[in-house]
Amino acid sequence: MPATTSPRSHAAPKRAAPRRKPPQRRRKGKKPDLIRILIPVLALVVVVGIVVNLTGGDQMTKLARDRTPYWVDKQIIAINGTGRRGEKIEGVTDIAIHYTGNPGTTAQQNHDFYDQPETEVSSHFLIGLEGEVIQCIPLDEKSSATNQRNNDTLSIEVCHPDATGQFTQASYDSLVRLTAWLCDYCDIGRDRVIRHYDVTEKLCPLYFVDHPEAWEQFKADVAAY
Ligand SMILES: [Zn+2]
Repeated sequence: MPATTSPRSHAAPKRAAPRRKPPQRRRKGKKPDLIRILIPVLALVVVVGIVVNLTGGDQMTKLARDRTPYWVDKQIIAINGTGRRGEKIEGVTDIAIHYTGNPGTTAQQNHDFYDQPETEVSSHFLIGLEGEVIQCIPLDEKSSATNQRNNDTLSIEVCHPDATGQFTQASYDSLVRLTAWLCDYCDIGRDRVIRHYDVTEKLCPLYFVDHPEAWEQFKADVAAY
C-alpha cells in the first residue's frame, strides 16, 4: 500500500505544478508589458492636456476660458440688459483704452456704478488709482464702452486723480501690464491698441488725446513690456 500510494502522491503534484506555473509566468510577463506601455502614454496625455489647457486653443476658446492672472480682481457684474448685455463678442482684434472721466473716483466705485440696472456703460476692466485691476465683464462678452467696436475689442477704463485725465504712475504701470497680457492672451500683436478717440473722436482717454506723444510712449511701453 505504501508503494502504490507514494507514486500517486508524487505524480499528482508533478502534474499539477506544470499546469499552474505557465499561466502564472504568462500573467507576470504580460502585466509589466502593459504597464510599461500605459505609463508613458498616460503621462503623455496628462502633459499634453496641461500644455493645451494653459496655452493652447484658438482665441474664442481662450476667451471663453477667461483665465486672467492672479493680479486681476474678478468681480463680474450682473447681466442687466445695458451695461452687461450678455452678448458674445465676435472675436478680439484690438484693446481699447479709456479713462473714466470722473476724477478721483476709485475702481471699486466705478465697478459698483456699472453694476446697477440703470447703468448703460461698462468696460471689461477698471484700473484704479493704486494700480488695482478689477474685471467686470467676461472676456468672451461685449462690454458697453467702445460704441461700434464693442463687437471686436476688449475695453480698459482707467481712473485718474484730476481733470487732466493723467494717470498715476501705479495706474499707468498696471495699464501697460494688463494691455500687454491681453494682447498676448488674444494672440494679437502688442501694437493692436486703440483709444476710444480713434473710434468716435470722443476725447477719451483725455490725456492720451491731448498728449499724442504720451500715447506713442504708452504703445512703446506695451510693446517693450
Ligand atoms: Zn471712452
